[in-house]
Amino acid sequence: MYCNYCGKVIQDDANLCAYCGRRVGAVAARKSLSRPRTGRRIAGVCAGMAEYFDLDVTLIRVVWLLAVIFGGCGLLAYFVGWIVMPNENEALPVPYPAGAASSDRTS
Ligand SMILES: [Zn+2]
Repeated sequence: MYCNYCGKVIQDDANLCAYCGRRVGAVAARKSLSRPRTGRRIAGVCAGMAEYFDLDVTLIRVVWLLAVIFGGCGLLAYFVGWIVMPNENEALPVPYPAGAASSDRTS
């Protein structure tokens, strides 16, 4: 593959460009931490985590359940995730270009 920054050929599995040192692999594979609308059990936090970390959702649920039972903070972490993780495909607030919002023409 090619580095997005300097355009040189680099290793396919490289995370950093050997020439300019920029991070390349993670940028291409970057996923957003969100709660999928399908496959959720409660709020989709575990499903979102599984998708983000590319792990089995059942494994996440088991580990999370153990954290809830034994750690106590698992439940809190779930609610935090519920609150902070956006729904998948939810229209994200698009930052308006300067002046576009104020010059809203109503004719
Ligand atoms: Zn480069």
